[in-house]
Amino acid sequence: MARAGALDRLEAREGVSGVTKERATDTGGLLERLSAGPVIVAEGYLFELERRGYVQAGPFVPEVVLEHPEVVRQLHRDFVHAGSDVVEAFTYYAHREKLRVVGKEKLVESINRQALALAAEVARESGTLLAGNICNTNIYEPGDAALRQTIRAMFEEQVAWAAAAGVDFIIGETFSWLDEALIALAAMRACGKPAVVTFAPHRAGVLRDGLDLAEACKRLEDAGAEVVGLNCIRGPRTMLPLIETIRDAVSCHVAALPVPYRTTADQPTFQALHDPACACIPDDRPFPTALDPFVCNRYEIAAFGRAAHDLGARYLGLCCGAGPHHVRSLAEALGRETPASRYSPDMSRHAFFGRGDAARKSNRDFTDKL
Ligand SMILES: [Zn+2]
Repeated sequence: MARAGALDRLEAREGVSGVTKERATDTGGLLERLSAGPVIVAEGYLFELERRGYVQAGPFVPEVVLEHPEVVRQLHRDFVHAGSDVVEAFTYYAHREKLRVVGKEKLVESINRQALALAAEVARESGTLLAGNICNTNIYEPGDAALRQTIRAMFEEQVAWAAAAGVDFIIGETFSWLDEALIALAAMRACGKPAVVTFAPHRAGVLRDGLDLAEACKRLEDAGAEVVGLNCIRGPRTMLPLIETIRDAVSCHVAALPVPYRTTADQPTFQALHDPACACIPDDRPFPTALDPFVCNRYEIAAFGRAAHDLGARYLGLCCGAGPHHVRSLAEALGRETPASRYSPDMSRHAFFGRGDAARKSNRDFTDKL
């Protein structure tokens, strides 16, 4: 049973400190780095910048790249500081349809070019990979040929802007339909850069066209994707069993980028989570602005990283909800020392819980009264 196997391994490895020192090279393109070891990909820009007050929940359009470029630049730097090997241009939901919804379609080119320029700046200064990004359009309908053309054109223009910015590879993500992902992949492949394509695993654990996720990933591999897998929607516990089935189904590299939330078998996605401890949440639905009590701690993220690595996934990251501390924990769990590791915890020097000279005896004796 794939499902039980992955969960058992996650349980067994929680709290384990040792991990094989397997490192990506810090040179070469995505595929060279993946062949040398895991590649860490920080995502989660929408939620982090929403929390900081620069993105509006609901439309979730990244106008911040134009309105506060310094904030986006700093978040890129924060994620690299924490261990990300990739700077992903913040063009998620910067496609023509989303900009139309907020009445700013005329900004579609400038928002994409600016997002790419900000990411390129940080990628160049840090020696990390620059990734372009396209994503779910939310207008796909099965069998609608006109819509397919519209979607294809939306992807093509974004891919062209990414290619012009000199991206190392392109990410197509959060797709719920195989066909929409295949449209994206065709557009991505036209620019000749490696393509990473990931699906959003909804409650049913299958795509909206009813297709099994492992089968859908195999179809993407057959269509030329270099990396396939899952991002967003599910937390580590409910994503890992699906990753195991995908790993078994494909021979290319596998991506796993869960949201850092404690999803469960009964509530397997972050949209499904319910908070019985609070009666004041709008619509009684914690998604997307009251998920705080469900956030995984950094140790759970480390356990996820080790478990996903054990399953054979090498393109590892986190999606909506992740902060730099999660990324650092993931990186360190995979054997990395990051710039932020200089500040990784050392409770032996705490004034009360520490050891030796760090904590006076009177303070240590007081710890169970704190
Ligand atoms: Zn996400």
